[in-house]
Amino acid sequence: MKFYSTNNKASSYTLEQAILKSLPDDNGLFMPEYFPQMPPEFYKNISSYSFQDIASEISRKFLAGDIPDDVIDSIAREAVNFPVPLVSIDENTSILELFHGPTLAFKDVGARFMARTMAWLNRDKKDKLTILVATSGDTGSAVANGFLNVDGIDVIILYPSGMVSALQEKQLTTLGGNITALEIHGSFDDCQHLVKTAFLDESLRSKYRLSSANSINIARLLPQSFYYVEAFKQANMRPDIVFSVPSGNFGNLTAGIFAHRMGLPIKHFVAANNANDSVFRYLESGSFQASETIPTISNAMDVGNPSNFVRMLDLFHHSKEEMAGMISAFSFSDDQTRKMMRKIFLDKSYILDPHGAVAFLGWQEFSKADIFNGYGVILETAHPAKFIDVVEETLKIELDLPEALMLLKDKEIKSVKLSKEYSVFHQFLKDR
Ligand SMILES: *Cc1c(COP(=O)(O)O)cnc(C)c1O
Repeated sequence: MKFYSTNNKASSYTLEQAILKSLPDDNGLFMPEYFPQMPPEFYKNISSYSFQDIASEISRKFLAGDIPDDVIDSIAREAVNFPVPLVSIDENTSILELFHGPTLAFKDVGARFMARTMAWLNRDKKDKLTILVATSGDTGSAVANGFLNVDGIDVIILYPSGMVSALQEKQLTTLGGNITALEIHGSFDDCQHLVKTAFLDESLRSKYRLSSANSINIARLLPQSFYYVEAFKQANMRPDIVFSVPSGNFGNLTAGIFAHRMGLPIKHFVAANNANDSVFRYLESGSFQASETIPTISNAMDVGNPSNFVRMLDLFHHSKEEMAGMISAFSFSDDQTRKMMRKIFLDKSYILDPHGAVAFLGWQEFSKADIFNGYGVILETAHPAKFIDVVEETLKIELDLPEALMLLKDKEIKSVKLSKEYSVFHQFLKDR
């Protein structure tokens, strides 16, 4: 499979270039040159495929020819070595729990797949690949976990001191092995600035092969299409599924469109936004305006300028009408989010995390308006215990921590404290 840049449809990049570079030189984003069609029998017989089989079949369509089949198969199976149960809420609604991976968020799927694909593409290179990641919390732990103990790759995580939750800090700093955590005395933007400056620093080139593992890498996006197919299977192949996706950078929703383009019958998508709702406003007005981020309780969606929006424009030929034919967007306040969490807890005894609650609101709003209704599948992107403070305060309950988080409690935080000056970061990299 070849890839093009959203800034130049005539460009052509190999899979290795697309994945190891992450971003094309012209600052667009990589897109697959076509969407492979899964054969109709695949969907017809989907109940006989396990989640891992589904992952393997789809992966082969994108990676065959570039990576040997047996390697593709193991990359795919290891990426989704945890279940994504579809939990029924009522006859028209269910919740797809995407949080049963090692860091309890859906980002594990993409991170695990990307790490293994990068490791294979890097296998014959003399030098180690060093991945620099700036994180405001969740991405860093999914990426670090994804790369943990992957040969030939080191990961350096930069996180802003005092600005990630205690649990998140534990998740980032207790892995050891090939993962190093840097606690930066500065903001997330400072962390991001250090990473960007390092990439441009010629004097590091002799020592390091640097790469990034940010959410725009195409290898994080492709595998997220797997669970849309898995949801279709668990919903007994209903042809009228409406996926409600809690959206920030819109990687998750874009992967759903990929699944649709590969032939999966999907009736419609709901893009559920918090107050950071530039895509909602685009679909209302036809003009796209990025904005400053507004902090909310669904903070993994606090994105003012969603990076995957250019991919969505590309997929819908820059036509607002075409996009609106497949995606309805809504925007909700923290107040509405908390109310929804309470309602579902009281009525259904189900504990939503704030992101899932925004998605539930989106489905509720959509099904009110749509006379055909359809079957709503809400993507629950994080375990509620990841947002324990908000959940406990909103529901007035005490949450049990899942085992993965319990185990972290006794682990010792290991991080290197650095100031936000580039010279200090530079010296740290030089001295390693
Ligand atoms: C990252 C994240 C999102 C947003 O996903 P995008 O692919 O960026 O739209 C939603 N919920 C949680 C819990 C996340 O970590």
